[in-house]
Amino acid sequence: MKKMKLTTKIFIGLILGAIVGAVLYPMRDVAFVDKFVIGFVFELLGTAFMRSIRMMVVPLVFFSLTLGASSAGDIKKLGRIGSKTLFFYLVTTALAISIAIGLANIINPGKGFSMEMMEGITYSAKESIPFVQVLLNMIPTNPVSALANGNMLQIIVFAILCGSAMTLMGDKASKLKDVVSQANDMVLKVVEMIMHIAPFGVFGLIGKTFATLGYDAIKPLLVYFVTVLLALVLHALITYQGFLVLFTKMNPINFFKKMVPALSVAFSTSSSAATLPVTMECVEEGFGVKNEISSFTLPLGVTINMDGTAIMQGVATVFIAQIYGVQLGITEYLMVIVTATVASIGTAGVPGVGLIMLSMVLTQVGLPVEGIGLIMGVDRLLDMSRTAINICGDAACTLIVANSEDGFETSKEPASVKVNKA
Ligand code: ASP
Repeated sequence: MKKMKLTTKIFIGLILGAIVGAVLYPMRDVAFVDKFVIGFVFELLGTAFMRSIRMMVVPLVFFSLTLGASSAGDIKKLGRIGSKTLFFYLVTTALAISIAIGLANIINPGKGFSMEMMEGITYSAKESIPFVQVLLNMIPTNPVSALANGNMLQIIVFAILCGSAMTLMGDKASKLKDVVSQANDMVLKVVEMIMHIAPFGVFGLIGKTFATLGYDAIKPLLVYFVTVLLALVLHALITYQGFLVLFTKMNPINFFKKMVPALSVAFSTSSSAATLPVTMECVEEGFGVKNEISSFTLPLGVTINMDGTAIMQGVATVFIAQIYGVQLGITEYLMVIVTATVASIGTAGVPGVGLIMLSMVLTQVGLPVEGIGLIMGVDRLLDMSRTAINICGDAACTLIVANSEDGFETSKEPASVKVNKA
């Protein structure tokens, strides 16, 4: 009941923030609104919450994954969970881009787009990292610096190695396991405490965005904007609902209902990495997924699984190709699917990175990266929406993998508590 209440409160914070922000938008230049409401109240509420949950990401990933790996029993099981997770992450991402490309080819967002819009637009792409470097970067040369910099993949590798070593040490590591387990419970408790300010934080973040958003930029790009949103919704309804029903027999409405806190936080922060503590709470407490599964699949997901981002990249590629009058064939589309899937692995779960990684996709099919400049103006709202889909994908895959591994707690007790008791 208490949980239900918090979920409702967060949702109300989201809706109220959007309404108040939109109402204040026409008055955004009035000094009181600009300096006090937006610059102080919204900023304070939103940023305080955002900083608080971001504060918990590194300790949460490290302790819960070390504990998860040490509780997973054997290395073989960890490998099996890993392969299944990677498989679902890659398949759902490829499906996401396919839906995006298909829909964009039906709606044709780039047709009839006014060429005047392109005047004065410049965009310089960042050098993309070679794939071999992406792989090598997963190995930390200094775990302390990986933790200090919040390098998720490096933390994952280090935590899995520590957890696996604890498994191999058996009883000799029992004291250490207790420490890690209690540290994990402590981190979860802090997350729980922070979640009490989530309704205000979400209100502040959304209020500020809606009060300052460049609505004017949306009008000329409305078709592109709607195509991305539609593809996101279709992916959630077809892929996630379909997979959940097929593999877990779960009621999909129930899935979205229980994910409301994480979806609201993802939407308001535009960062799946910052949302991780909330996603973990929803998945472990809402669905009872065991910590040993979610502690691995979710941090990995926020790093490599970005279905929403891939959708934006698919639609944007078709949109930019149509504007520049470039005909993309089946080979190019296949290339887009592969590149966007790889790009989503290299995309960090922070605001706006998807757009930067789009340059990698465009270059691959010979489209000008300057095209990114065209869609930059409307990317904020789309970033919010695709981040929500990104974390939905992580949670849906986690449930499927947990289901296939008998990875649910029988009660709704926090998974960590049960693991400790075991
Ligand atoms: N903001 C997205 C996320 O955090 C990444 C992106 O598409 O820019 O998941």
